[in-house]
Amino acid sequence: MEYSGADNLDARDESLRMVSAVPVGNEPVSDEELRPHVLEGFIGQPRLKAQLQLFLDAARKRDVAPDHILMAGPPGLGKTTLAMIVANELGVPIRVTSGPAIQHAGDLASILSSLDVGEVLFIDEIHRLPRAAEELLYIAMEDFRVDVMVGKGPGASSIPLTLPRFTVIGATTREGMLPSPLRARFGFTAHLDFYPHEELEKLIERSASVLGLPLEDQAARQLSLRSRGTPRIANRLLRRVRDWAIVHDLDSVGADDVKDALALYQIDSEGLDRLDIAVLNAIVRQFNGGPVGLNNLSAMVGEEAETVETVCEPYLVREGFLIRTPKGRLATAKAWEHLGLKPDDGTPDDVSKLF
Ligand code: ADP
Repeated sequence: MEYSGADNLDARDESLRMVSAVPVGNEPVSDEELRPHVLEGFIGQPRLKAQLQLFLDAARKRDVAPDHILMAGPPGLGKTTLAMIVANELGVPIRVTSGPAIQHAGDLASILSSLDVGEVLFIDEIHRLPRAAEELLYIAMEDFRVDVMVGKGPGASSIPLTLPRFTVIGATTREGMLPSPLRARFGFTAHLDFYPHEELEKLIERSASVLGLPLEDQAARQLSLRSRGTPRIANRLLRRVRDWAIVHDLDSVGADDVKDALALYQIDSEGLDRLDIAVLNAIVRQFNGGPVGLNNLSAMVGEEAETVETVCEPYLVREGFLIRTPKGRLATAKAWEHLGLKPDDGTPDDVSKLF
């Protein structure tokens, strides 16, 4: 399974968007306070939770480090959170690294050779490990051994070092990019999916209570509809709503407060932002619904083709606003309707009414 563009997101473009699924600014820090620490606190994904629960219970009963786990799915859906929960539930420490942070096989060898028994090694973006590190990881995962090179040049030799049993948790937004020998070394693959509105609503209620923000049910509902199925976006929007509540001295936050606060950031009722609307508007207005080629489209909205393709389109396609065809992009009836138009209307309404 591959998630279009999820990994190619240009941080520069993404950081300008409130609806980015990757962390922006100091979010890695503020994400921490909202992370659940036990499986029970992890909202939604019921099947996956049941699978993990069984997996953890069995490991605890057998009293051994469990098999290696792969977490696969788009950014912002809880892969890192689950890895931390697994370590916490097992009562073992967790070491965190990522594919791009490991530049040489030696970097990985030194992490592996310092692991304690039972420790969890979390490797984010595991599909971006350099090839040599990947090969070292195969052996370490299978045989709990790492070959350490001693000396240089023709006199160099490798000394096998036995490792304690540990658990690798790999996270990837591009499962399809993982070589099959690596994939085969994971005993369990957790597939994370976008969250339905009802689950996001619960997640938002939980986060609001952690932040001490009195949020009415309808307010949580309105936030969930704008969060693009993604907990990270839900939590970010919630923090902006909290700003609004603080500045306006609100005792409780209602649906209209959410609408007003997010309209300020130009996020509409379906979670579309200015760029999404610009894309739909260009297809509908300039090209009468399409088909229109990516380059023409990106020129119309003044964005790089890659940004339109990887940052904007996946959500528009997923939500049925846009179709990619061999001849170009087509706006669906839902897109026309969302802009307040019918296909034969000609001129669209004022789009500022959407926010
Ligand atoms: P990923 O590693 O998939 O990019 P994270 O695990 O970092 O995503 O999650 C992003 C944010 O969303 C974190 O603040 C986390 O607390 C929150 N989050 C994600 N999934 C859930 C969930 N199922 N329940 C509660 N909070 C969640």
